[in-house]
Amino acid sequence: MRALCLDYELRTLVEREVSPAQPPSSGEVLLRIEEIGVCATDRELARFRFGVPPEGDSYLILGHEALAQVEWVGADVTTLHRGDWVTPLIRRNCAPQCGSCVTGRRDLCETGQYFERGINRAHGYFTECVTDPEADLLPVPESLLDVAVLAEPLSVVEKAIETAFRCHPLTPRTAIITGAGPVGLLAAFALQVRGLAVTVVSKEPEDHPRVALLRRAGVVYMRSQAPPPADIVMEASGAAEATLAALEWIAPHGVFILIGAPELDLPVPALRMILENLTVAGVVNAARQHFEAALYDLGNIPRPWLESLIERRPFDAWRDSLAAPAITPKTVHRVR
Ligand SMILES: [Zn+2]
Ligand SMILES: [Zn+2]
Repeated sequence: MRALCLDYELRTLVEREVSPAQPPSSGEVLLRIEEIGVCATDRELARFRFGVPPEGDSYLILGHEALAQVEWVGADVTTLHRGDWVTPLIRRNCAPQCGSCVTGRRDLCETGQYFERGINRAHGYFTECVTDPEADLLPVPESLLDVAVLAEPLSVVEKAIETAFRCHPLTPRTAIITGAGPVGLLAAFALQVRGLAVTVVSKEPEDHPRVALLRRAGVVYMRSQAPPPADIVMEASGAAEATLAALEWIAPHGVFILIGAPELDLPVPALRMILENLTVAGVVNAARQHFEAALYDLGNIPRPWLESLIERRPFDAWRDSLAAPAITPKTVHRVR
């Protein structure tokens, strides 16, 4: 079976034959992969910036944003049936399980010894078939099939939104997102459908298709001037300069959320944080509840906005996708 792999001996990205997925044991299902989304994490993995292969293997199968169809259910599988569509949770329990993992909040794993499919010590989904526990899969309704591959990146956004609303002592009405990548755009849409007035600040020129898409969605776009302060400021660019600038845009009582991963130590405005009740928070990964919120929002966000995010390519075209982002925010590979 073909798979896109990081080869840790040759330090390169290769397509290779790997042994077929194991038949499902009790509580597991065999999945046929339909689509795989590619993101900045995959591009960083392809540069060997992080990522660890499973124990005993010299390679890691890439791919953590997946839409798949159930092909074969093992004994004791109760909620899934052959033909059902699913998207997988990415992070898996540490073992023995810590207090967070045991309650299903692996995104808050206390030992750091978790596994992440396609990233950390567990193979991903950029292949034909995989076996997965039923408990790690989320059923996808047929009505969402054309956009369900966005569930994983949106789940991280959902965790960021939940964190922002939890930390804000009043009701947030305005939001600024820095960065117009897939996560920035999904955050803008998800906040827009919640009724917030959203501004995206990024470096794309005014005639860029992503800017046109934001404007169509009623989102304000700013490139050169500073936006008025907002109740929620979400950093999704990963750029140090943008992150520093965005720190200045938090309104009193506001929440600053880091989703992008800029390589800098943030000089937090300590006195303002106290006098204006500011919160600065970071979020990583997502729990089942955030995947559920993502599927809910995928049904809620106008479909043309979501469809404009996606460019589909065949399996073979992975080299271009992993080398650099395309103009369309989310590159999705058809695997089947
Ligand atoms: Zn991703
Ligand atoms: Zn844990």
